[in-house]
Amino acid sequence: MSKPIEIRNPRTGKYDYVIIPPPEKLLVQQCHRLRRAQKSWFDLGLDGRIDTLLEWKDAINSMRDKLMEALVIDTGRLSVSKLEIDSFVTSIDRWCRLSSRLLQDKEKGTSISFINVQQTAVPYGLVGVISPWNFPLLLSTIDTIPALLAGCAVIVKPSEITPRFMAPLMNAVNAVPKLRDILTFIEGDGKTGATLVENVDLVCFTGSVETGQQVAIAAAQRFIPAFLELGGKDPAIVLESADIELATSAILWGSVVNSGQSCLSIERIYVAKNIFAEFYHKLIAKAHQLNLAYPTLESGEIGPIITERQAAIINEHLQDAVAKGAVIHCGGEVEEIGGGWWCHPTVITEVNHEMKLMNEETFGPIMPIMSFSTVEEVIELANDTFYGLSAAVFSESRDEALEIARKIDAGAISINDAGLTSMIHEAEKNAFKFSGLGGSRMGASALTRFLRKKAFLIKTKDNYDPWWFNQ
Ligand code: NAD
Repeated sequence: MSKPIEIRNPRTGKYDYVIIPPPEKLLVQQCHRLRRAQKSWFDLGLDGRIDTLLEWKDAINSMRDKLMEALVIDTGRLSVSKLEIDSFVTSIDRWCRLSSRLLQDKEKGTSISFINVQQTAVPYGLVGVISPWNFPLLLSTIDTIPALLAGCAVIVKPSEITPRFMAPLMNAVNAVPKLRDILTFIEGDGKTGATLVENVDLVCFTGSVETGQQVAIAAAQRFIPAFLELGGKDPAIVLESADIELATSAILWGSVVNSGQSCLSIERIYVAKNIFAEFYHKLIAKAHQLNLAYPTLESGEIGPIITERQAAIINEHLQDAVAKGAVIHCGGEVEEIGGGWWCHPTVITEVNHEMKLMNEETFGPIMPIMSFSTVEEVIELANDTFYGLSAAVFSESRDEALEIARKIDAGAISINDAGLTSMIHEAEKNAFKFSGLGGSRMGASALTRFLRKKAFLIKTKDNYDPWWFNQ
């Protein structure tokens, strides 16, 4: 029997939920069972898989209230949880539509007139998905749905910090007979995650760079693919010609939505010298209009900092910045209220790249702003990071913004907007530097990365090949 893990409630600080990770032996057996069942799932064909996932969608919709209730306790937030459920449900439809165009075997001619190639692909048997706590539902299903459509069985281990949503979600899985043999969600912490990597055929990992590196090493030793989606320190660049009203609204959202607990949060803001003062005064005024979602869920837009560890990191970064000369204009610390950890949107200037706030992932509603004089300088500042997830550029001229975007080392750049990769799933993107590794989880690659391509090379005529021995 594994040791139970007590789970903290982010609003009250009380440990009011318990998970029991599966013992290793049971987990190994479960992986074998799922892998065996995958064969029939693949044989069901794409149409059968689509129908099954649409049945799951109906089951989820019928249990939506329970899912919402659990997710709200897991994360302590209301509107983002609603957004998470909506995005998840619509993503099922989107992937089903896309897969019917992508997963078709094709036969075509080749450069040699009497040879055709039939291109097909074989899914990996069992995919393991390991996900973090900041969007518990979305990030545990974002790779799961395309993997299922590709014909894989999937075992998901969400974060031990936010596990309550799993019970209603598993009820919806169990309501669909064809799904329950090839999809499961398991409780557990890093130890369970590490065991999972030892027992699957491909791993999709979303989480910190530190853990991602451990997963990559374990996967490399087993010679299985690992798709890693890791941390970020996204910059926003605001050029002199930018619409300041629009840029401040977009950056405020991009920095503090979900209390800044997003991999693609704007964590560094670079503003052209001539508009710097106007920009940050406007940002402060807008930040003041946002309230904490305390005492009730509806009291404001800013939910709690979900983990105590993250609350400590945010405070450490703020204290380090202030000790090195930074000036806080609003917000400024994570405080304990009613047992939870909360932080008002924080605008901070006089920052530089010697500060943790400008080079380590903060994961809080913090907006540090620096001014720049030349385009060369701002590109250098934006790229002066270990990360390369995404970025944003604001300019009146789309050409000027694109010119800069081309020079930024990141996989997705929003132009005159922020955090668009959370909304737009059609665009393929790869993480740069330590923000990740492996095929795009967006666009067509999201599906095809679960397939090993296979070619049948077919002779269409009854002739001797000219390159054979002459006998
Ligand atoms: P984490 O790395 O601590 O944990 C992520 C998951 O890995 C959890 O489920 C955990 O139980 C599991 N785990 C821990 N040790 C493991 C091991 N040795 N082997 C296998 N699994 C193990 O990350 P976190 O704190 O939950 O999440 C926050 C991080 O995730 C941030 O850095 C954030 O930027 C990143 N993130 C990235 C994306 C993206 O798409 N790039 C999205 C969301 C979050």
